[in-house]
Amino acid sequence: MLVDAALHAPVRAHARREREMEAAWEARDHATTPILARRRRWLQEMRAAQGERCAYCGCTFEAGTDRRATVDHVVALARGGPDTRENCVAACQRCNELKRDMDVDLFRKYRPWMSGEVRSPPDRLKP
Ligand SMILES: [Zn+2]
Repeated sequence: MLVDAALHAPVRAHARREREMEAAWEARDHATTPILARRRRWLQEMRAAQGERCAYCGCTFEAGTDRRATVDHVVALARGGPDTRENCVAACQRCNELKRDMDVDLFRKYRPWMSGEVRSPPDRLKP
């Protein structure tokens, strides 16, 4: 029994540390990191302004699914887009993941094909 306890103590300590890290991450996500807190505020404002619908596919946001609301940077941060309210829209997680750092006009054109809603891609790359 003592041997068992000694063997499992590091495992339990590791599990406890994992839980602590998860809790810290949650806290960070929700309140204490200014950038994330600001984006959460933007998301609430954008959701209201957009009538609780995705800026790209128009679906109604649904928590806990791939239709949950996320902040999308219209000009992706990776493309030098600014982290400002004006450069953001509320998009469902699915559209956000499909778009990644794609040009917004191309994404709007290709989204139905990328999401599997239509079978064939548009004929031309540019609108
Ligand atoms: Zn969408």
